[in-house]
Amino acid sequence: MQINRRGFFKVCAGGMAGTTLAALGFAPTEAMASVRQYKLLRAKETRNNCTYCSVGCGVLMYSLGDGEKNAKPAVYHIEGDPDHPVSRGSLCPKGAGLVDYIHSEGRLKHPEYRAPGSDKWQRISWDDAIDRIARLMKADRYANFERVNAKGTVVNRWLTTGMLCSSAASNETAILDQKFARSLGMIAIDCQAHLCHGPTVAALAPTFGRGAMTNNWVNIKNANLIIVMGGNAAEAHPVGFKWAVEAKTHNDAKLIVVDPRFNRSADVADLYATIRAGSDAAFLLGIINHLITHDKIHHEYVKSYTSASLIVREDFWFDEGLFSGYNADARQYDKTSWNYELDANGFAKRDMTLTHPRCVWNLLKAHVARYTPEMVVSLCGTPAHHY
Ligand code: SF4
Repeated sequence: MQINRRGFFKVCAGGMAGTTLAALGFAPTEAMASVRQYKLLRAKETRNNCTYCSVGCGVLMYSLGDGEKNAKPAVYHIEGDPDHPVSRGSLCPKGAGLVDYIHSEGRLKHPEYRAPGSDKWQRISWDDAIDRIARLMKADRYANFERVNAKGTVVNRWLTTGMLCSSAASNETAILDQKFARSLGMIAIDCQAHLCHGPTVAALAPTFGRGAMTNNWVNIKNANLIIVMGGNAAEAHPVGFKWAVEAKTHNDAKLIVVDPRFNRSADVADLYATIRAGSDAAFLLGIINHLITHDKIHHEYVKSYTSASLIVREDFWFDEGLFSGYNADARQYDKTSWNYELDANGFAKRDMTLTHPRCVWNLLKAHVARYTPEMVVSLCGTPAHHY
């Protein structure tokens, strides 16, 4: 090979550059492929429920701390449980973010105490907290416990302290709450569900015989007509709402939403009826009037399973928007006259022919007769063609 001086320097410079690049790691080497270990492989799996709404979606929680040496117990992944009958693996953003709530810095993990007049909370131990609660409860109970009432009847009750429990507790916890409170004679025991389910219990118990939900979310998929009123299931209970969507898709169901707001449920409804806030009773009474007037009633059901045949007392009346028993000074009702007429054995009298003028059916008919479509439209502000 013939090479001159200039060429010799070029070759040397090229060789040095190549060596330097190789030393810096730019030389191609054998490809290295590896499989990343499945992140849940060694996790401990725990089944639970999301408590952020009444759908109660099933969740699978994965944590460290499966007995490994030096592993600190900690939940690090949560996902929907595919075996859960209602949610079938779905979670809405609230449920999907559960792991962040668990590790949130704002999460309260210790008892805190705020002294009277102070604007600061101070952390105290569980022992101190339990001692303090027990001491205060004991003092109040000793001071106010009533063994007998004014008539001398044994009542064994403690009326000056109440207990607010969790509405998201399991049945087992709820039973313990009850046992704890009742064994002390405490009468006032309640939970938040009383607020949101008060009206449903009042309606469900006389209609279906019990105040609790009569079927589950999944059953909604069999409906032909779904009416959402005063709620926004698509946003508040998105996983439960998927069964309404399922009914629409596979059962050709119609979805009607009645609400003052055009919400996300309304967005997927077949019919959205706007309504003035607070006028929902008039809207429903108008529907009852329509159903009775056009004979769209399931007569057998109404007769046998509702209070329609029961006879109301003779001194019950309704006039000018007021029912009997109204005390204008106290602005309260004495509801005694609203009771049923009783037979010799103390049972409410019935008229299964539904012809007695004071049976619930006829009183209801007379009461709702004033809720004509024109009246309802003017009270509720619902466009006539929607109503
Ligand atoms: S719908 Fe959302 S908030 Fe409700 S239980 Fe399921 S995951 Fe929780």
